Amino acid sequence: MNRPGEALVAAYRAIACDLDGVVYRGARAVPFAVSSLQASQAYTPVVFATNNASRTPTEVAGQLEGLGLTGTGADAVVTSAQAGAALLRSRLGPGAVVLAVGGDGVAEALADAELRPMRTLAARPEAVLQGWARTVTVADLADASLAVADGALWVATNTDLTLPTEAGVVPGNGTLVAAVASASGRRPLVVGKPERGLYDTVAARVGVPVEGLLAIGDRLNTDVLGAMRLGVDSVWVLTGVDGFAELAASDVVPTWALPDLQGLLCPPVEVSGSAPQWSAGRVTARLLGDGRVTINGADEYAVHAPAVAALGRAVVLALREAGDRHVVQVGVTFDRALGALREGAPGQYGGTDPI
Ligand SMILES: [Mg+2]
Repeated sequence: MNRPGEALVAAYRAIACDLDGVVYRGARAVPFAVSSLQASQAYTPVVFATNNASRTPTEVAGQLEGLGLTGTGADAVVTSAQAGAALLRSRLGPGAVVLAVGGDGVAEALADAELRPMRTLAARPEAVLQGWARTVTVADLADASLAVADGALWVATNTDLTLPTEAGVVPGNGTLVAAVASASGRRPLVVGKPERGLYDTVAARVGVPVEGLLAIGDRLNTDVLGAMRLGVDSVWVLTGVDGFAELAASDVVPTWALPDLQGLLCPPVEVSGSAPQWSAGRVTARLLGDGRVTINGADEYAVHAPAVAALGRAVVLALREAGDRHVVQVGVTFDRALGALREGAPGQYGGTDPI
């Protein structure tokens, strides 16, 4: 629980922060993400936790440094390949031979966990760690299938079916895992979000119990669902894939909703009221009969943006429980309000803005 006036992040012992759609989109930094995360480190350790197994922590840390997150070393990055290697190490002990399917991130994570990564079946692997890389071939999938069918312990870094790239959507690790599952008739253990392995690895890295984490992410079905299952608080940030329309169609409930990461440094916004009117500090949202929502009675942009996001979440969730047919329309309305806030007065709602 936060004390009155205290920054949201101050109540947590560590942050598990997603990357794509939270810190960067493609090659570009997400607005306010770098400065907000840098400032958050004064309160609590920030660990970057990614389902992407293809790159090594050193490569990821280099990209974060390039975006301006100074002092971010490889120790501040946890990949699903590392989580997979940690699971295999706990099950098999040191020195076990593991077929490494994926990029350098997979082989390096195995070696760092004192396991023996191999690229072929010649050394008779006891296990398979399967992650995504652009270089994965049909021959790699065939070897994985043969090893798994032969009884090897099979761990998948993640099962995201698709991977967004600058060129468009391509098959993700889940699609390649499904090919091996079809051929072998078996199913893997999975460590990436929404499974708990990645969160456990973050908690172990900083030496805190997993319940002390705050999980930050843009995707409801991975970042937020994983936190929900663990009973860990989550920040759902509206700079990536999912918006209020997706929240309306989902059973996943984030603890906090923020338009961007500046809200980490603001006191958290509590929502009061019930349909058709909700309030948070100086901000009031009212549901109109046609499914639209007004904020402070009009299109008023000089409001506390985290409060708008919190209200949007409250409105969407309350209407969803009531089975209201306007629910998606409300979500879209709030998305537009947030967009207007950002375009109209960027940065106006920093940590000193009273709630
Ligand atoms: Mg993401």
